[in-house]
Amino acid sequence: MSFTKLNLSAPILKAVAEEGYTTPTPVQAQAIPYILEGRDMLAGAQTGTGKTAGFTLPMLELLARNKPAKGPRHVRVLILTPTRELAAQVGESVKTYGKYLPFKSAVIFGGVGMQPQITTLRNGVDILVATPGRLLDHVSQGTVDLRHVEMFVLDEADRMLDMGFIRDIRRVIAILPPKKQNLLFSATYSDEIKKLCESILRNPAVVEVARRNTSSELVRQSVILVDCKRKSALLGKLIADNKWEQVLVFTRTKHQANKLSDYLGKIGISAAAIHGNKSQNARTKALADFKSGAVKILVATDIAARGLDIDQLPHVVNLELPNIAEDYVHRIGRTGRAGNAGEAVSLVCVDEYDYLKGIEKLINRKLERSIIEGFEPDPSIKAEPIQQGRGGRGGGGGRGNAPRSKPQGEKPQGGRREPQKRENRTHHGESRRGR
Ligand code: AMP
Repeated sequence: MSFTKLNLSAPILKAVAEEGYTTPTPVQAQAIPYILEGRDMLAGAQTGTGKTAGFTLPMLELLARNKPAKGPRHVRVLILTPTRELAAQVGESVKTYGKYLPFKSAVIFGGVGMQPQITTLRNGVDILVATPGRLLDHVSQGTVDLRHVEMFVLDEADRMLDMGFIRDIRRVIAILPPKKQNLLFSATYSDEIKKLCESILRNPAVVEVARRNTSSELVRQSVILVDCKRKSALLGKLIADNKWEQVLVFTRTKHQANKLSDYLGKIGISAAAIHGNKSQNARTKALADFKSGAVKILVATDIAARGLDIDQLPHVVNLELPNIAEDYVHRIGRTGRAGNAGEAVSLVCVDEYDYLKGIEKLINRKLERSIIEGFEPDPSIKAEPIQQGRGGRGGGGGRGNAPRSKPQGEKPQGGRREPQKRENRTHHGESRRGR
């Protein structure tokens, strides 16, 4: 199938062609016709499936088809995203695909000054991409007018709920006009998501594309067994021996992300860390440096990495396995994207065997294990529990790493997430305090 079959007009097709896309991804092929019909939609699709273009292209098309009578610009499309990074990326996509159309778009999120955003909004915006907290700040200050919204997109709705945004989302919905087109994207269908869908969507078209844990065949996944305290050194060796040029490395904790990034710098491998304690500017710079190749290694925590769109990322390394198995699937989803093969390597120590089992159960396959000469695990080392508790474990790479008495993680531990307990909102962007 080609994009020309999708009833998109020439300015959009031109922008798509310039991106080098020839064939719509499955979510695009399924979603675009429904959206153009004006239907509400529930789409089960994750980052990496091409979902952003899946809603942005038809959204631009509808805006272009239904031009309002002359007058001041109004916000006609509102796109809500859970994180600043995702908002910025969606904003970029809107600009890219809409570059031959006359619409103005803006991205607003917390952690940066209000005033430039107020000026942008005052000058008139057709498409607004926002994180919930900062949007509500503008609502309460009367600096944004949402009375003319024709289309509302809730991106990564499941992550929004995970991050405790449900009340903010409901507050936003309450001020939007009731008559509008609603699109909801979510990677998972929990009962909470179902409830949200029922309250927002009217007779929605349902689009479901392969879940990450079924589509991850494109990613070569393997496990290297190693002692906890030797993980950083092993990673340095892997990067050097394999001449890896661009690697996204995951840690469970902010502390460990910083520690690893410092260590790699010391052994001459350029690295930057990205996590919730970094300022927005530092995060944006780290990501830009990583994308440009100025730094080879980006070390990230799960939350910070959520939604990062880095084209054709060849390697993902789990320096530490996540305690929530689904996060593994999200992590490896950073590689092998939109049809490109990728490689995900997990460095696993004895403390993490239970996590590994949980992951293998979720993805329904056993991961190949190997051992690297000179880094053989010491069989006399017994597993130690990884510190649990609010705010994360302090285990870092396990024993010999971060001080266990000082948890540094970004999320509460011990099973399923509980939105209201996720203290990381205060670091991550949209907290009451930080937005
Ligand atoms: P998303 O799921 O929206 O984060 O998109 C994932 C990646 O796929 C982005 O880097 C897009 O630029 C890319 N992409 C989106 N649509 C297509 C397409 N039809 N063909 C090739 N790449 C695409």
